[in-house]
Amino acid sequence: MKTYYGKSVFNGVAIGKISIYQKGEQQVKRVKVEDTEHEKKRYSAAVEQATEELQALYEKAVKEVGEANAAIFEIHQMMLQDDDYKESVENIIDSQQVNAEYAVAATGDNFSQMFAAMDDEYMRGRAADVKDISERLLNVLGGKSKAGMDTEEPVIILADDLAPSETVQMNKDMVLSFVTVHGSVNSHTAILARTMSIPALIGTDIPLDDTVDGKLAIVDGSKGIIYVEPDETTLSEMQEKQKGEQEQKELLQTLKGKANITLDGKEIKLYANIGNSKDLATVIQNDAGGIGLFRSEFLYLEKDDYPTEEEQFAVYKTVAETMAGKQVIIRTLDIGADKQCDYFQIEREDNPAMGYRAIRICLDRPEVFKTQLRALFRASAYGNLAIMYPMITSVWEVKKIKEIVEEVKKELTEQNIAFGSPSQGIMIETPAAVMISRELAKEVEFFSIGTNDLTQYTLAIDRQNTKLDDFYDAHHPAVLSMIRMVIENAHKEGIWAGICGELGADLDLTQEFLAMGIDELSVSPGRILPIRKIILETNVEELKK
Ligand code: PEP
Ligand code: MG
Repeated sequence: MKTYYGKSVFNGVAIGKISIYQKGEQQVKRVKVEDTEHEKKRYSAAVEQATEELQALYEKAVKEVGEANAAIFEIHQMMLQDDDYKESVENIIDSQQVNAEYAVAATGDNFSQMFAAMDDEYMRGRAADVKDISERLLNVLGGKSKAGMDTEEPVIILADDLAPSETVQMNKDMVLSFVTVHGSVNSHTAILARTMSIPALIGTDIPLDDTVDGKLAIVDGSKGIIYVEPDETTLSEMQEKQKGEQEQKELLQTLKGKANITLDGKEIKLYANIGNSKDLATVIQNDAGGIGLFRSEFLYLEKDDYPTEEEQFAVYKTVAETMAGKQVIIRTLDIGADKQCDYFQIEREDNPAMGYRAIRICLDRPEVFKTQLRALFRASAYGNLAIMYPMITSVWEVKKIKEIVEEVKKELTEQNIAFGSPSQGIMIETPAAVMISRELAKEVEFFSIGTNDLTQYTLAIDRQNTKLDDFYDAHHPAVLSMIRMVIENAHKEGIWAGICGELGADLDLTQEFLAMGIDELSVSPGRILPIRKIILETNVEELKK
């Protein structure tokens, strides 16, 4: 057995033979021509045919991965019609008196090099798109269909890299998994793989040769591993894992696509908690209606220095885009207590859970806070993004946050940088916030109850201290009354209230929360469907009686 490691793009276990994907790259010859008009006509006809192909691909992709993710093929169609591209091709044909193939290949190379050299990360990413459309035109001009996979049984596709068009053109029934040597987690191909719910790895250190081609392999998407010619133990372990996933999938199939509506007609937002853009795959797989808590501090924790505005912007934008119009609630930096970041150089405290943490750090170090807010406001132009502030205890904190937000918006406007208008809410995770929730509700657009901290502060039990497990009553009536109070106060002021702490995923409490009038539950992705099942079977009015 040989083991290779990559970065996971989508979880799941795939077992099958490896098939190395052959690219249909063209060897383009430079041929002198007399009739340049004829070459230009050939080029126009090729553009027309390629546009039709892309339209067909777009329609296929809309069905398989949804409109937002299929949009890449609309963009490719627009790129084909681009005047600069067309002028360049025609100019090369005319001035050099050469064939259309050569003019397309040269234009494709020039344009993609130009994009690749740009500072803007998004523009650099477009280099691959230009190559993709040029490649398509060359195939049409050469009368060839795109290369691909030639297989009669479902296989694990192994490739150096895959373009989005190559990914979507594959017959999904024949693909067990994608494994690539190159590629980025944020590429459209990765996004498509995730949305197709196909286990996928990128950046894998695997050779593309006969030592693996045609061999039996196992892709463990959750661990980012591919085992080639697995031994008996690994094979049976992975078959077990796959079986477990299969059972979960079956439950998923019956509930997927259903609205979270109780028997008496109340609709609940059922969102997912994530710590990382890598978690998006499971969010989509489990049919979450949005993201109710993105713990943005993980971006800070995985680094040795402050993440820059651009780095943060790229992550928030990816999440907003991938969720394609569904709400994405990003919580601002919540470090301190158990989540320490050395480079923040926070002095040792005797009681860190009650110390310098979360919004307190942000208000004390506005330059750090502003960098994150700028990234968030900018990313909000790319989807349905909301911002949530943690560890609030007073109304003045919210007012101060609003002042800083106004400064950030003013600066962005002055700098001519686009931004959206995200909805803004707070976490209710301190008893103080519960008690003044009516006042706080006047200031914000939503509440999300952080039951992990709320329980710790209400019961005076350090959530990290395992010695106190016997005293830790997750269903303590004090906490449940507080949740009820928060929901009531939110509703009195016309805003929604949800729970994003672990208690929200407690299936024994789902009906109780519904009876309290909860509007949203944000839970780990694997809990979405079990909770949906309860919602669908509950009559809230009956319960209340
Ligand atoms: C909470 O406190 O309930 C919460 C969701 O935030 P965290 O667990 O990240 O502190
Ligand atoms: Mg908390």
